[in-house]
Amino acid sequence: MAADSGARGTARPATHHPHPATAGHPTILTGATVVLPTGPVENGQVTVDGTRITRSAPENAHLIDVTGHYVIPGFVDLHNHGGGGASFTSGTVGDILKGIHTHRLHGTTTLVASTVTGDMEFLTRRAGLLSELAEQGEIAGIHFEGPFISPCRKGAHSEALLRDPHPADVRKLIDAARGRARMLTLATELPGGLDSVRLLADHGVIAAIGHTDATYEQTVEAIDAGATVATHLFNAMPPLGHRSPGPIAALLEDDRITVELINDGTHLHPAALQLAFHRAGADRVAFITDAMDAAGFGDGRYWLGPLEVEVADGVARLVEDGTIAGSTLTQDRAFQRAVTVDGLTVEDAVTALCANPARLLGLADTIGSLEPGKYADLLILDSTYELKGVMRRGEWVVPPQLG
Ligand SMILES: [Zn+2]
Repeated sequence: MAADSGARGTARPATHHPHPATAGHPTILTGATVVLPTGPVENGQVTVDGTRITRSAPENAHLIDVTGHYVIPGFVDLHNHGGGGASFTSGTVGDILKGIHTHRLHGTTTLVASTVTGDMEFLTRRAGLLSELAEQGEIAGIHFEGPFISPCRKGAHSEALLRDPHPADVRKLIDAARGRARMLTLATELPGGLDSVRLLADHGVIAAIGHTDATYEQTVEAIDAGATVATHLFNAMPPLGHRSPGPIAALLEDDRITVELINDGTHLHPAALQLAFHRAGADRVAFITDAMDAAGFGDGRYWLGPLEVEVADGVARLVEDGTIAGSTLTQDRAFQRAVTVDGLTVEDAVTALCANPARLLGLADTIGSLEPGKYADLLILDSTYELKGVMRRGEWVVPPQLG
């Protein structure tokens, strides 16, 4: 599986950008609209010293005038399977790093690497490899999507490898991730589902309800058991019905749940996105990519775990039956759509792409907003919300392009 991963269609290599580091040299970004947790500040400034945002800078600080631009925090992606032609589920370490770098070029300064359904032995091995990258600070942890999901709502997961969420098996994945499991998506209505939710919650791992065929009532039970995230709300679950509201109503109405939304214009009609965003409120939405290898790379043939995928016009579908198979979304596009198509305010979009996922990951003290003491993970956007600069941990991943 690993050897065969990656594009065979368009062979456009992802480029690495060996830009000179600025870490260590104090920098002040001036003149920008700085988006803070309290709202945008006109003609604001952000000071960076070393890897952190600071309150003040020494006199020799390097000044960069970004008048006419926005400065916002780096994006945080809770749910991401790959990019740049590389898969987090099946790629080599080099592939995975290329995928991470591709998403950094698009503003995602923190990401959780998501796996897809595989057999238990394969997944435990992947967990070991990904946990090393988490220890090195390359990823913020691991999200297991499958194998404990519903065959009725399997999406782009291999049906033959699905299994019920037996707590002993869930425990095996948690252990294999060596403290780096951050989230596990499961169909909580399956045998063992509620006990698995409790187990995950006890271990500080987010229990995410998804790829589920649960009723409204079953979903309420799972939330009461400790589930806190809805995996790509609307996708891979029963639709909202007026006599059988299903999981969607239960997930939207409960303040304990944050809902993931894939804002690529393909997975959700803009009206569905609006409905969810306004019902949950900005503080309970996380815009994720659910990206697969083709994100930031191009159309062609790919593998998603053991299943073959055709990407055409940026939409990924299983070759066998046309099911949508992850996205080719990057978070800079999700942000731009949120503001220009969905009509969200810049601060609400920042909340959904930065602050909320940082909070869910327990990282709100170091990332997710532009406050002194936090990591200098920041983005420069022009007046049309086009990405024009990416800084991560005080180093430019994309140097400012202020033309
Ligand atoms: Zn996914």
